[in-house]
Amino acid sequence: MKIETIAVCGAGTMGSGIAQVAASSGYFTLLFDIHEEVLEKAKTRMDINLQRMVDKNKMSADEKAATLSKIRYSSDLHDCLADIIIEAIIEKPELKISLFNQLAEINHGDTIFASNTSSLSISDLANGINKPQRVIGLHFFNPAPLMKLVEVVNTEYTNQQTTESVIELCKTFNKTTVVCKDSPGFIVNRVARPYYIESLRIAEGGLTNFEDIDLLLEASGFKMGPFKLMDLIGNDINYAVSVSMYEQLGKPERLKPSYIQKEKVEKGELGIKTGKGYFSY
Ligand code: NAD
Repeated sequence: MKIETIAVCGAGTMGSGIAQVAASSGYFTLLFDIHEEVLEKAKTRMDINLQRMVDKNKMSADEKAATLSKIRYSSDLHDCLADIIIEAIIEKPELKISLFNQLAEINHGDTIFASNTSSLSISDLANGINKPQRVIGLHFFNPAPLMKLVEVVNTEYTNQQTTESVIELCKTFNKTTVVCKDSPGFIVNRVARPYYIESLRIAEGGLTNFEDIDLLLEASGFKMGPFKLMDLIGNDINYAVSVSMYEQLGKPERLKPSYIQKEKVEKGELGIKTGKGYFSY
């Protein structure tokens, strides 16, 4: 099935970026969030991001205008009518399942339900939904407009047509896709988890501070140090992924989440999105 219309649910860090990718690839895109102020913020951020590209000659002013004209913002769930729903709402499985089920009732029979979750089992989401064969993981990375990779996560129920349609869609987004089976952390988060956890252990042990750990790892070739990266991802999201993977993989000591992560979440120091995390913004 050729995808022509896209609805992105959740207009936070990831949803707004995914909507930008979709609209700049020429798709009619609906960006939905339950909070009006989040939609306003997403609208402003989109304009700033696109203007930055115009200023760097990576996009013309006409292309910017064309992209903006493709996006509609809404806080009314009934506006989410599309060939594919990409959800990027908060990491609560019951909310994601409920959202998909409500949208299944108002969308056509071939609509694909894709989740951008980093840590939840796509199979568990599919199990809660009437048409599990049209449920798939579509895991973008942060920031979505810049990061090339998208993990396409199949469950035992996902049908081939769904997988092929989302791979074709990602090609038109100019993204690189990797298809993987549903498993905790998929591939990238599985590989990346020790990067965060081991760095947190070093900080916990008082060996050195967040800044120096970042400095060291950046100087040794990593594009972004772990603490800057966690602030970019959002410490709530990163902690949720850490806990979920730790539990799903049988609680191995090496992946035990750090109390520092928990503290950051409890204090509301979530990173760039709240102005303070491991560093101040
Ligand atoms: P976020 O907190 O920035 O945004 C979540 C948004 O969802 C908020 O704007 C909130 O208002 C909205 N929301 C909550 N309940 C809703 C509902 N029922 N319907 C519609 N909107 C609702 O979170 P985020 O960082 O963008 O993460 C979203 C998803 O993307 C999560 O599943 C996360 O695991 C995944 N993800 C995050 C990253 C990252 O680096 N942050 C990377 C890849 C994937």
